[in-house]
Amino acid sequence: MSSPVGHAFVGLIFFTLAKRFDQQHHYSWKWLIVFIILAGLPDLDIIDGLASGPLHLIQHRTVSHSLLFTSVVGFSCAWFSHCILKKPRPTLWYTFPATIISHPFMDMCCMHSILPQGVQLFWPFSTAFAYTPLPFMTSIGTFTAYGNPFWLAFLKSGSLELVVFGSLYGFLRLLFYLQDRQKALLDI
Ligand SMILES: [Zn+2]
Repeated sequence: MSSPVGHAFVGLIFFTLAKRFDQQHHYSWKWLIVFIILAGLPDLDIIDGLASGPLHLIQHRTVSHSLLFTSVVGFSCAWFSHCILKKPRPTLWYTFPATIISHPFMDMCCMHSILPQGVQLFWPFSTAFAYTPLPFMTSIGTFTAYGNPFWLAFLKSGSLELVVFGSLYGFLRLLFYLQDRQKALLDI
């Protein structure tokens, strides 16, 4: 898996997009937490991975990393929010699913120490693991496999993702800033 830093950044990016495309509603920091949780949710399968013997049911990066599972959870969360909110937020119908569906695609771009590489993207139709031939991220486990203590492995993996996704987030903010500036100039 990518580190929680990378998934949290993706949660931040989709939170920023939701705010941008839905300026009729206020998105507080609580919404940011919801987006971050959703972005990392498929990795809850590592809890099962900590168990052994008959208690260990699901291999990491399988069911919870499939397009089917992430789509169902993403749209269910959007539907749930639609039902409980006094003023429904239509942007959640696509930002919630996109946030969680991004997770397996990020893991596909990550070098893992525990084989097989990639994720079971098309489960239950195929149990083959899908991955990119040129991964540009490295999992915490891979750094620990090379002899790094956990804290250093976390730091290295997190720093790499901070650079990649921090740059992406910075680019997005810059784009929005330039759009607003151009709009303000046209309004004068
Ligand atoms: Zn994962």
